Amino acid sequence: MTSNRELLERSLRAVWHPCTQMKHHAGQEAALPLVPIARGQGVWLHDFDGHRYLDGISSWWVNLFGHCHPRINAALRAQLDELEHVILAGFTQRPVVELSERLAALTGGSLGHCFFASDGASATEIALKMSFHSWQNRGHGDKREFLCVAGGYHGETVGALAVTDVALFRDAYAALIRPAGVVDSPDARLAAAGESAVDVARRAASALEARLEREHQRIAALIVEPLIQCASGMAMHDPEYLRLARGLCDRYGVHLICDEIAVGCGRSGSFFAHEQAAIRPDFLCLSKGISGGYLPLSIVMTSDAVYADFYDDATSRGFLHSHSYTGNALACRAALATLDIFADERVIERNELLARHLGSCLQPLAGHPQVRHLRQRGMIAAFDVVSDDPLFSRHFYVEALASGILLRPIGNTVYFMPPYIISPGEIEFLVERATAALEAALRR
Ligand SMILES: *Cc1c(COP(=O)(O)O)cnc(C)c1O
Repeated sequence: MTSNRELLERSLRAVWHPCTQMKHHAGQEAALPLVPIARGQGVWLHDFDGHRYLDGISSWWVNLFGHCHPRINAALRAQLDELEHVILAGFTQRPVVELSERLAALTGGSLGHCFFASDGASATEIALKMSFHSWQNRGHGDKREFLCVAGGYHGETVGALAVTDVALFRDAYAALIRPAGVVDSPDARLAAAGESAVDVARRAASALEARLEREHQRIAALIVEPLIQCASGMAMHDPEYLRLARGLCDRYGVHLICDEIAVGCGRSGSFFAHEQAAIRPDFLCLSKGISGGYLPLSIVMTSDAVYADFYDDATSRGFLHSHSYTGNALACRAALATLDIFADERVIERNELLARHLGSCLQPLAGHPQVRHLRQRGMIAAFDVVSDDPLFSRHFYVEALASGILLRPIGNTVYFMPPYIISPGEIEFLVERATAALEAALRR
């Protein structure tokens, strides 16, 4: 029988874990625990020694409907007996066609063409390459720069880091990167006394306008995370920013790329976050939750206009990008099952009630002397903790795990991104344990 100890020792010998200084896992009294997981069920992760953890962050924001969901499991079993994978160059199959059609319909037909990859960073790279190449095909070869928003995160490959403004991930590789221009963030926390979130959005849009006025001839696209910049600490902004940015991109002939890898698929309260600004992007990047957290899958959706820029007799004017697993049938089937759950189970409506419950459970923390900026949009809630302890985040994480919940603060920001199948009682449990973990971490 496998035990926690046995598996974690083997893991530390053979597996290089992501986003981790491996030495922090070393030794009997490791600063950072490594948690072996035997199985998952709903919101719960079970280890080998009889403990369980409530997955309060949907395992890095991917498991929208928790773990081992019966509908997605059944859909994958059926797909396995039909077709696991086929090359997508020169061949096609039902799951990839159905998924492309259904996603296009969800954008009201405005983004009718789906390009497939396997992870979010690749989706970012595809959107950047497509934007640049489409301008080039239109005779605007001088449009070869990109703009990104301060604090934005779009993945960690070398190309994606160029539009990622998170020092911890980017600075070590600065010498390798051709950085994009960074424009002001509309983060509502930047409001001066008497300013509203809309005021901050308008101020950031004015700065964007000045930048575009000067540089638009060199700029192919602006890339944004609509409504919530997740990876840099759940920075939230008013939809007004997206409305204004869309208008400016139209006025100055610049593509708008919406990276909804984290905020798409219902997380922000609407199926796509950009819907809340009543705009349409030129490119939409999806990944993370789209496969229900089952299989690596990412999608870049774009418009007829962009598609037409590549449609030509000349091979070199085509978009020749590819990944080995492009359009993997199992991953597309998992995504179709995920969309089925949205369609059949009124997920967006149900989430509204769950989000309200999460908000009211968290409300008492608004008065905590060391809590600032308690904020929420849809199924994301967050607050910032006032603490000088550089290890606050680790202390909180360890205390939370010890009390049976998985929450991973980003710096001093504690956030909640639970699976959509969480029950009101489980929300209460999560917030109660998080509050206790906060107190314990602040005492250390
Ligand atoms: C996670 C994330 C990415 C990168 O996705 P990976 O699959 O981790 O490469 C890109 N953009 C946003 C907004 C993300 O949250």
